[in-house]
Amino acid sequence: MTSPSDAVRTTCPYCGVGCGILATPNGQGGAAVAGDPAHPSNFGRLCSKGAALGETLGLETRLLHPVVDGARASWDAALDAVATRLKTVIRTHGRESVGFYLSGQLLTEDYYVANKLAKGFIGTPNVDTNSRLCMASSVAGHRRTFGGDVVPGNYEDLELADLAVLVGSNAAWCHPVLWQRIAAARRARGTRVIVIDPRRTATAGEADLHLAVAPGMDTVLFAWLLVQLADTDALDRAFIAAHTTGFDETLARAREIAPSLAAAAARSGVSEAELQAFVTAWRGTDKVVTVYSQGVNQSAQGTDKVTSIVACHLATGRIGRPGMGPLSFTGQPNAMGGREVGGLANMLAAHMGFSAAEIDRVRRFWNEPATVTGEGLKAVDLFDAVADGRIRALWVMGTNPAVSLPRADAVRDALKRLDLLVVSENVASNDTLVAGAHIRLPAAAWGEKDGTVTNSERRISRQRSVLPLPGEVRPDWWALSRVAVRLGHADAFAWTSPAAVFREHAALSGFENRGERAFDISGLAALDDAGYDALAPVQWPVPRGTIGGTARLFGNGDFVTPDRRARFVPAAMPALARGTSPEFPLRLVTGRVRDQWHTMTRTGLSPRLGAHRPEPFVEVHPDDALRFGLVNGGFARVETAYGDAVLRVVETDVVRAGEIFAPIHWTAETSSHGRVGPLVQGDTDPYSGQPEAKATPARLSPV
Ligand code: SF4
Repeated sequence: MTSPSDAVRTTCPYCGVGCGILATPNGQGGAAVAGDPAHPSNFGRLCSKGAALGETLGLETRLLHPVVDGARASWDAALDAVATRLKTVIRTHGRESVGFYLSGQLLTEDYYVANKLAKGFIGTPNVDTNSRLCMASSVAGHRRTFGGDVVPGNYEDLELADLAVLVGSNAAWCHPVLWQRIAAARRARGTRVIVIDPRRTATAGEADLHLAVAPGMDTVLFAWLLVQLADTDALDRAFIAAHTTGFDETLARAREIAPSLAAAAARSGVSEAELQAFVTAWRGTDKVVTVYSQGVNQSAQGTDKVTSIVACHLATGRIGRPGMGPLSFTGQPNAMGGREVGGLANMLAAHMGFSAAEIDRVRRFWNEPATVTGEGLKAVDLFDAVADGRIRALWVMGTNPAVSLPRADAVRDALKRLDLLVVSENVASNDTLVAGAHIRLPAAAWGEKDGTVTNSERRISRQRSVLPLPGEVRPDWWALSRVAVRLGHADAFAWTSPAAVFREHAALSGFENRGERAFDISGLAALDDAGYDALAPVQWPVPRGTIGGTARLFGNGDFVTPDRRARFVPAAMPALARGTSPEFPLRLVTGRVRDQWHTMTRTGLSPRLGAHRPEPFVEVHPDDALRFGLVNGGFARVETAYGDAVLRVVETDVVRAGEIFAPIHWTAETSSHGRVGPLVQGDTDPYSGQPEAKATPARLSPV
């Protein structure tokens, strides 16, 4: 029996909202879960997924001991095998033939150790993460405009705004607690909501205005808005002059993209009347928050979409002040933490890039001459390098690329060619493991892990262990460190706790940081173990000598570019990477359903969650159902140039004629025919490397 005082303060493992949770172990391997009223990101709220966490703690599907070449092994044998085989690959093919593919599910401490081992000590830059599929375009957009990977505002702004514009965000399903906060603001103060999305999602259905933009054309709307702000004297010219560069060129480009109301309407697919309503609302409301999520990011022009949105906020000085600003909703629970440690191939560590000075700084901090000299391969390129033999050893941690990458069948085939595939996983079987993992390492799961995560509002929260480690399961930071020791780096990987890892990470963030990097949590580097354990949620930056955090940035016009001015960045003319054709006349949009998370490894364990949408499906407009001979409730074969799937037909006018929607969650293990990843094109954004997931040319036929 337990009492309320046994409740452990922790954080939800699913989306980037980062809700605080009170988890009370039941003494029988499970736990009761409730929202944490004291956590400032959710104030006790939970969505269906978070509320069902207690139903997902069984061990039936878990990997509970190491496996080497198909046989159970001890940890010593498995770690020896990883180290020995890595040495062989490095000796034969060079350091850069080693890759790491990480996950926004990892805790910051796990991420930090993986990045330090790879970039600092093995000396390979080829470290990327499934965050590349999630929000890399927002990272690139923020770095191009602000000079750093910084979200200026916070969730409270959603409650202080008078207008919330949601672009490519089905928050009601994908960030439900933030949608609840917006809904509360609508009731309390009449906040208006505009949703920009090709589909009439649950969020769009509740909006005051839904702009059903044509796929990929979001930039047209914000180009037209910028033109209108300029032409109606609605700019903050003092802010532009004092704190930005590049406005005139960006406005000139916006005029090319949206030369007239008629042209903007034709290109965007939004009616002239709706465009005018959008402009009138945005221009006439001081407190505007513009939210963007995967509909913006998962695009071959995602970075341009982000910089176009940010441009309208910079041009009006509506940034970094209460109730106003651009606000990226991150997909994963620790996508932000991964960015902070350098988990992306184009970032080094602590938000540093690859200039000579930054490389030298990190090398001196790590005291290691092997530190890499430049950017590595981003996710899609990384798996292409696996396919063509440039990558010979890959360590996958906490993600299932054989399901989630574009062209997933090609990824699955590529994995079979590796000399060494190490997979750190919670589950005993998944598509990536089955593809040919030579070494399987049992990783700690939610409820067992201990560390930190950072959510979409820069808030660092503790994810604390609630349950003991089952079987021979170990934390990822421990397994990585023990391999590092076997590679000859005992001194640099001598940590005995996640608290020690965190202190080093925090110290690096402040190392020779004179304000040029917003990410600075050196104020937390002095935490002792008890202080780390008790750490309350805090928004970075937390510079040395402080502990309280920072709610908003950039409101004073001080950005983190070399000249401290924000950049307006002209966008390319919006165009989708691939056109439809008589062979593939439709556009496939992929996305999520309300009650599932990623490949369902955890949410799939809850019958209650599974009941919402129990099988793979494709949404088809009635006109297209008629055109292609499909029956509502029957099956359709969905084909693209890359793969095919058989999905249940859901006839609905939520999608428009010419567009179809299918969710991403099903795997080879949960559906013999419902994997959608193999269908998705691999075209990427030129700045972020994020692949397009919302516009693959496709066709339908009855089954
Ligand atoms: Fe909160 Fe997201 Fe978890 Fe739902 S899934 S409880 S919104 S963190």
